[in-house]
Amino acid sequence: MLKAKFFKEIKAKTLLIFCNDCCPAFQFGNHPNIVAASAFAGLVNPENGFDEAWFNYHFEQSNIKEIFILGHTNCYVLHNLLQKKVIPESCKNAKKQVLGNQLLFNNLSFLNENLGFTFLKYQLALQKRWLELYFQKTGIMKKYEPKIKLLFIDETRQSIEKITDLQFLLLSESLTKN
Ligand SMILES: [Zn+2]
Repeated sequence: MLKAKFFKEIKAKTLLIFCNDCCPAFQFGNHPNIVAASAFAGLVNPENGFDEAWFNYHFEQSNIKEIFILGHTNCYVLHNLLQKKVIPESCKNAKKQVLGNQLLFNNLSFLNENLGFTFLKYQLALQKRWLELYFQKTGIMKKYEPKIKLLFIDETRQSIEKITDLQFLLLSESLTKN
C-alpha cells in the first residue's frame, strides 16, 4: 500500500535518499526509475558520502532528473543523536549537525501542537535547503537542474506526505520567540 503510494510519485529517473532505519524505504528501491541510497539520519552531506563526485556520477551515469529525500517517524538514529549521551567519534559531526538543526527549530514558534513530528519535517526541509546550496556552490544545479522533493512517511499510519519548505514558513507564528 505504502509502496504503491510512493511509486505514484515517481515521474522521472529518481535518486531516492532515505535514513538507514526507515524500514518501508527498503522496498522502494526495486523500481526501474529509482536509484536508492541510504544515509545516516537522512543527512545529505559529503561526510555521509554524498559529495560532488558521487552526485556527478549519478547524474551522468543514471540520468537522474529528480531527488527525493525521505523523512520518517520512529527515527531512532535521529533520536539517539539528540540524546545527551556520549557517542562514537564517527557520529560526532552528524550529532553536531542535528543539534544545530534543533537549535534553529527551538527558536521558531509553531502553531502545531505535535512538535516531535514537526521537528522531523523541519529537519527534512533543512536537508533540502542544504543540498540546494551545495548544488549551487558546486555548479551541479546549473549543469543538471535537478528537482529536489521531500516526502515524509508516517510508519504507524502507513501514510506518505509531501513536504515543502514553504510549509514551515507558514506554520511558524513568527521567526523567533523573542
Ligand atoms: Zn531514521
